[in-house]
Amino acid sequence: MPTQSHYDVVIIGAGVVGSMIARELSRYRLAVAVVDKESDVGAGSSSSNSAIIHSGHDPYPGTAKARLNVRGNALWRTVAEELDVPLRSTGALVVAREGQESALEELLHRAHANGVTDAAILEADEVRAREPRIRPDTVGALWTPSAMVVDPFQGVLGPAENAAANGVAFLFEHEFTGALIERGRVAGIDTGNGPIRAQWVVNAAGVFADDVMHLFGVHPEFAITARRGEYFVFDPTRFTVDNVIFPMPDELGKGILVTTTTHGNSIIGPNSEEVDDKEDQSVTEAGMLQILAGAQRLVPSVSASDLIAAFAGLRATGNYKPDGRHRDFLIERSDEVPGLINVAGIESPGYASSPAIAELVVKLLAEGGLSLEEKESWDGRRARPARFAALSHEERAARVAEDPAYGRIVCRCENVTEAEIVEAIHRPIPARTYDAIKRRTWLGTGRCQGGFDYPRTMEILSRELGIPMEEVTKKGPGSEFLYRRTKEAV
Ligand SMILES: Cc1cc2nc3c(=O)[nH]c(=O)nc-3n(C[C@H](O)[C@H](O)[C@H](O)COP(=O)(O)OP(=O)(O)OC[C@H]3O[C@@H](n4cnc5c(N)ncnc54)[C@H](O)[C@@H]3O)c2cc1C
Repeated sequence: MPTQSHYDVVIIGAGVVGSMIARELSRYRLAVAVVDKESDVGAGSSSSNSAIIHSGHDPYPGTAKARLNVRGNALWRTVAEELDVPLRSTGALVVAREGQESALEELLHRAHANGVTDAAILEADEVRAREPRIRPDTVGALWTPSAMVVDPFQGVLGPAENAAANGVAFLFEHEFTGALIERGRVAGIDTGNGPIRAQWVVNAAGVFADDVMHLFGVHPEFAITARRGEYFVFDPTRFTVDNVIFPMPDELGKGILVTTTTHGNSIIGPNSEEVDDKEDQSVTEAGMLQILAGAQRLVPSVSASDLIAAFAGLRATGNYKPDGRHRDFLIERSDEVPGLINVAGIESPGYASSPAIAELVVKLLAEGGLSLEEKESWDGRRARPARFAALSHEERAARVAEDPAYGRIVCRCENVTEAEIVEAIHRPIPARTYDAIKRRTWLGTGRCQGGFDYPRTMEILSRELGIPMEEVTKKGPGSEFLYRRTKEAV
């Protein structure tokens, strides 16, 4: 990947927000770098969420959340098509029980005030016609046809790979540790790997965006609390729903929902728990019981015996309330430290809003004096490698004839081949860990949850990266699989 000592813009954070900003900036004649402390894109909240491109019905009217969500929803359709990101138009139901009718009307008004003009209230029988498994005492639902479900990892990888193909440098395992400020203006950042000079710094560091801005000496009053949300994943052969189903929202957010991912697994979650450790993505038994109970309030047939996996994500909940009442995104060009752009408190609907946030950040940079000269060579399209499992019998045979590595199945549950793993390792954003390969190929996500593929995948990583087996990691330094060699190879 191209690296140099001086950039026009350095973005801290390779989540969906940083990657979308990087892609937008890659249109112009600029030297841009994205730094991330982890080994891959999407290591923060962006791959551990409900993956819903919300319509924009929920945020309080007049907030940046409302405006950017509605704009982001519209942009996602084009962006997903250009970047070959799986996106399913599902619509969403927010279901109400007896006593919640007036809250449902209020939600409809909020949706309309935000510009979600196709939102409508469905009667109980219309809800049951859409989702026969819905709880029988459902009295109606808000129907938002523009809601969609996205593949959350591809939604980050797509813009990141496209940005990299258009010249943006991605520097992984580069942790931001301090600000470089000269004559009162941004001069770059310090990282664990040395300083990186830049004219502009965009702070898109997720749950750590408050720490980043404090090191730049701005907004000491701003704080982000990590709110953990746990999820449980169903075996698709045992349980699926057709719809995205929410309960009525409460003060904690949009509530525990039931939805189906672009891969076909239904998931339930998230709960909402403040955690002190901003990296605590553990799942708990108490969480599972809470989520099961919440999901059964929507779909009574949800059963713990059909669950195959669990995960958790951390919401970056900031304390910025411009109207004194409603939490909002804090997106600004700093007046105090010229050259700094803060993109902070990006909790839900941050994923849905991300293309619109990128648009806004580029506008803030241009208004701040960054010269934006379009590149003639810019190519905004990116294609995902084909999944062997999704090919026809003839297409599979042709692939195997071309490259015998397509004939070697490494993951038996999901039919992932050696050739797909090798390709993932050599893409514009290389997969250099087991988890990076898992997220790209879907290996290890089936019923055996990686039981058979681990050793083979480690061998392939070792061979392709030219590193000893002891250095192969699950998700970066500190997560090596092997401790030491116990006997010499024969
Ligand atoms: C439980 C849950 C459910 C959600 N559901 C939805 C939903 O359905 N729809 C929706 O629109 N939104 C949803 N969201 C919100 C959405 O996931 C986030 O708004 C979005 O992913 C934020 O993206 P980001 O790029 O700002 O942050 P992140 O994805 O967290 O990326 C930040 C990056 O910064 C890096 N970083 C941090 N500190 C440093 C440092 N010091 N140096 C270098 N790198 C650093 C991290 O490694 C990380 O990669 C949900 C969130 C959660 C947790």
